[in-house]
Amino acid sequence: MTKNYLKLQFYSLPRNQAFARDAVAAFCLELNPTLADLSDVKTAVSEAVTNCTVHAYKGNLGLVTVECEIEEEQLHIKISDTGRGIPDVSKAIQPFFTSAPSEERSGMGFTIMQTFMDEFKVNSIKGEGTVVYMSKSFKAEVENV
Ligand code: ATP
Ligand code: MG
Repeated sequence: MTKNYLKLQFYSLPRNQAFARDAVAAFCLELNPTLADLSDVKTAVSEAVTNCTVHAYKGNLGLVTVECEIEEEQLHIKISDTGRGIPDVSKAIQPFFTSAPSEERSGMGFTIMQTFMDEFKVNSIKGEGTVVYMSKSFKAEVENV
């Protein structure tokens, strides 16, 4: 049975985005992902971690926690911050919703996470922080014979 766990904690600095994305990608290599699956996971992690930097802590330094769990062929990812929180999650996850249009944000981060991963959920409390949960299944590809 395949089971594994990883926990990363780092400052919400933009330069840690690539590190977080690549660490999660390296962690899920044991599931023999396709390049397309790896790319999906990296993009989703990047979007969630970027949101911690630009929205949760808005230029202040805070801690971002990334936890990953491998369970059978599933990868579960939990990305949390203790920043400002989201007042209305159902509105925030709509495509093109952004609270920062002046910063040239397109409001597509959550939509990308939702599209690239199999499961997606956001819990947030205003003033306390946000947790994003995402899962992806890495089923072995059946070869055509
Ligand atoms: P883009 O991701 O396309 O650059 P965006 O970050 O505004 O733009 P989303 O990632 O979809 O778009 O996020 C939508 C909105 O949800 C944000 O504008 C912000 O108001 C809020 N939000 C997202 N993540 C967080 C977070 N971790 N903490 C606080 N607010 C957040
Ligand atoms: Mg975003």
